[in-house]
Amino acid sequence: MQYIVQKFGGTSVGTIERIDNVAKIINSEVNNSKKVIAIVSAMSGETNRLEELVKNTSPIYDGREYDVIVSTGENVTAGLLALKLQNLGVPARSWVSWQIPITTTDMHSNARILDIDSKNINKKFDEGMKVAVVAGFQGVSNEKRITTLGRGGSDTSAVALAAVFGAERCDIFTDVEGIFTTDPRIVNGAKKLDRIAYEEMLELSSLGAKVLHTRSVELAMRYNVQLQVLSSFKEKKGTIVCREDEMLESRIISGIACSKDEAKITLVGVRDKPGVAAAIFGPLSESGINVDMIIQNVSENETTDITFSCPQSEVIRAEKAIKAASGKKQISYKNYIIDTHVAKVSIVGIGMRSHTGIAKKMFEALATENINILVISTSEIKISILLEQKYMELAVQILHDAFELAKL
Ligand code: ADP
Ligand code: ASP
Ligand code: MG
Repeated sequence: MQYIVQKFGGTSVGTIERIDNVAKIINSEVNNSKKVIAIVSAMSGETNRLEELVKNTSPIYDGREYDVIVSTGENVTAGLLALKLQNLGVPARSWVSWQIPITTTDMHSNARILDIDSKNINKKFDEGMKVAVVAGFQGVSNEKRITTLGRGGSDTSAVALAAVFGAERCDIFTDVEGIFTTDPRIVNGAKKLDRIAYEEMLELSSLGAKVLHTRSVELAMRYNVQLQVLSSFKEKKGTIVCREDEMLESRIISGIACSKDEAKITLVGVRDKPGVAAAIFGPLSESGINVDMIIQNVSENETTDITFSCPQSEVIRAEKAIKAASGKKQISYKNYIIDTHVAKVSIVGIGMRSHTGIAKKMFEALATENINILVISTSEIKISILLEQKYMELAVQILHDAFELAKL
């Protein structure tokens, strides 16, 4: 008998009626004689509510306790779904991380899966269980403490389970019909894609398209898990995330991602001499800051300005690192400017490897609308720009039109 992995996101399990609908979707796979591993998220809004409780109780909190608290939303959904399945006469039970176990690193609130033991779940399948309802997003560390995988991490739980059980399919049920050329909540005319390559999805996710957790795409690519993203509300084919050689058509640009979780930091009046960049980015890296884009201005009077971007959530730590490095005389600058009213917009496509003129087209389209580009970064299959946050949605729309993505 084949395993099927099905993951249901927060909106899909947002009410008891919706959980009922999910139980029916699962039951139809049971009727097809499949062993189903169903991964659930917390009911929509629940993880935010739990996070607020933590922050209101203790602004500088212990990450281990944070994980104990925020992971509970998934436990509730797992239990409720198991009950709904039992009501339909389906032998089902819930599983939380330590019962499987799903072992992770001890990086609380951002743990990585180290190992999943299939033995306990398989034993229950052998005894007649038809559906294992697994609480997503959570794991257990070697110290036997509860961990979580980072916001949106249930996707990663699902892909990891699909890889370990060699599942025939890994379906990610969500509140949109698949992966679109851009967030359909920003651009009305966004087009659903039939297929997208792992590499493209990896870029889109890491650049802000929250439809899939970045780590889930990484795992799917590494273990060759074919993913489908589809709606739990409409019975319709979704989007397949697959290897590049399984793509049926070639496109230059597949999608646009955007993110408001960005900050820009400029060090003004830095001495322009060899080793300065290393002196700045060394301490930042040691403090765990994910520096993303970097520009260095033309030197004047042997001094220059260096600008870089990082996630907004890391700004306070970045500032501390810069100040400490200056205090220890590792770097010297006149002052620094932090701007948190910025956003990042990125275009992504594997076709960029073999086509020229994409950057020109992107920058021209933004220029016609007078949108100023603050920082640029590129890789083989993406171009990202930083811009004023208030122009983010407009820029996404303009680029969607310029690259005629609605016609894909
Ligand atoms: P779930 O709770 O099911 O995990 P998420 O909210 O995490 O759902 O992800 C789905 C959301 O991702 C959609 O509602 C949509 O607004 C957003 N999204 C962003 N970019 C895209 C995209 N390119 N295609 C589809 N959805 C996208
Ligand atoms: N419930 C968690 C969150 O809201 C995990 C998930 O939904 O994937 O981030
Ligand atoms: Mg999600």
